[in-house]
Amino acid sequence: MVAPTASSSSSPGTPPPIGPEVLRVHAPADGALLGEVPIVSAAGVTAAVTRARAAASSWGALTYAEREVELVRWRRALADAADELAELIHRENGKPRLDALVEVMMALSHLDHAAKRAAKALAPEKVGTGILANFRATVSYHPLGVIGVIGPWNYPIFTPMGSIAYALAAGNAVVFKPSELTPLVGVKFVELAQKAFSVPDVLQIVTGAGPTGAALCKAGVDKLAFTGSTATGKKVMAACADTLTPVLMELGGKDPMIVAEDADVDAAAEAAVFGALTNTGQACISIERIYVAAPIYDRFVDKVVAEVAKVKVGGDDGHVGAMTSKAQVGIVKDHLEDAVRRGAKVLAGGPDAIVGNFIQPTVLVDVTDDMKVMADETFGPVIPIVKVASTEEALRRANATSFGLGSSVFGKRGKELADRVKAGMTAVNSVMAFSAITSLPFGGVGDSGFGRIHGDQGIREFARTKATAEQTFALPINMMSFRQPANAYERMRGMIKQLYGAGPVAKVKDALGRLL
Ligand code: NAD
Repeated sequence: MVAPTASSSSSPGTPPPIGPEVLRVHAPADGALLGEVPIVSAAGVTAAVTRARAAASSWGALTYAEREVELVRWRRALADAADELAELIHRENGKPRLDALVEVMMALSHLDHAAKRAAKALAPEKVGTGILANFRATVSYHPLGVIGVIGPWNYPIFTPMGSIAYALAAGNAVVFKPSELTPLVGVKFVELAQKAFSVPDVLQIVTGAGPTGAALCKAGVDKLAFTGSTATGKKVMAACADTLTPVLMELGGKDPMIVAEDADVDAAAEAAVFGALTNTGQACISIERIYVAAPIYDRFVDKVVAEVAKVKVGGDDGHVGAMTSKAQVGIVKDHLEDAVRRGAKVLAGGPDAIVGNFIQPTVLVDVTDDMKVMADETFGPVIPIVKVASTEEALRRANATSFGLGSSVFGKRGKELADRVKAGMTAVNSVMAFSAITSLPFGGVGDSGFGRIHGDQGIREFARTKATAEQTFALPINMMSFRQPANAYERMRGMIKQLYGAGPVAKVKDALGRLL
């Protein structure tokens, strides 16, 4: 099968977008050939961006209500195709069918939210005018134009939807480059968009590997939303620097979980097992290290080991599926071997329990901060647990990382502790929940990237902010003019003292300012 691509909507005269090569997509669970997609050349990427620019002017001219109708039409088509989408995700990515269907639902919840929320999030705001009392000041938001979206393989539709839905709702056209490991579900989801939208080419797909992504960085998009590894993110930023193309970076993580001594131990252990193993541990917000207060440590570890023993690997009703790529299996194996070599104790799974692309859920204790499994992103079904003397020690060690994406805290003072975790997102007495709450901004700090998807901030990421200052009536002193009265200097000095000195007018203003 050759899946349709951007080429199918080429207009006459545009260079052929498809090179001679194709990408073959194999199922990680059994190696079966699932399909082929073209490798779109640099010329093809540029042609797609050119078409997107034409589409952006019509799409951007629609009202929010009109765009909502279009996006809801796409949402309905995706919901009708939920089984087919879930099957493609399950086969291409290797995750269990139910996980794949959950991914479809999460993606649709964000599409629905973005479609309905854009009008409010991007409504013009009247703001104070400060010293220019004769002005009206407005902040308004406008489409950027064409957004390039580069996605990973671990959540092949949920993750890109976090950018695509919000960018479309803000009035932009999008050119999407899916991961070379999971392009088929992207092709399907874009095909449904192209049928649903009345404006052609508003959402296009360019399939291929790194070079196709690199071409998108150079193709003149107005913003590049990248989700992937920190290493590739740095290359994307460097490529975009040439043209000052703004970037949104959703990168890797090393998410900590802190379990305080007053936590509900059973609930924390169950959540830890889910948070570390869901999506076969291949989530940017997977729980990757756990710090547990000493008084409850033994109980917590026992419960985690007991819960892990119930986790089913593989099969149609499995909790944990195949790892998506051999390369990722290699990284996890290397982390486990390094940990064991340096003295970690294996309580379940381990480096010897890897068969093909399947890794048995692994529980490690006696881990130290210098082990790869504690310092680098493992991205596999691994649960390293550390005993700490105090919550302060847990916080210090949780924050001693260059990453800062998600995190979780269990305990009665959870919210208080959460505010002290250096990360973009924290779940309190839960794991990962922030990604499913559509109004919450999603993103990280440090090596986990910058910028936000989801929520109002996620919509504004894809808008151009315009500041407008409108003069409404004239005053005797016009700061925006060379024509000033003879005593302008004295009057200005008097105003400075009155407004910003220690005089009575300034005092009243200061008091009012605090009240407002
Ligand atoms: P990756 O960096 O290998 O690839 C991501 C995408 O970049 C792919 O589409 C790839 O083809 C493309 N690419 C590769 N080289 C490129 C280049 N030079 N220029 C432009 N594009 C290029 O990442 P991956 O292995 O697909 O995904 C896993 C990583 O993604 C993990 O680190 C994970 O934590 C991260 N991730 C982050 C988030 C988040 O929201 N922060 C979400 C999901 C995944």
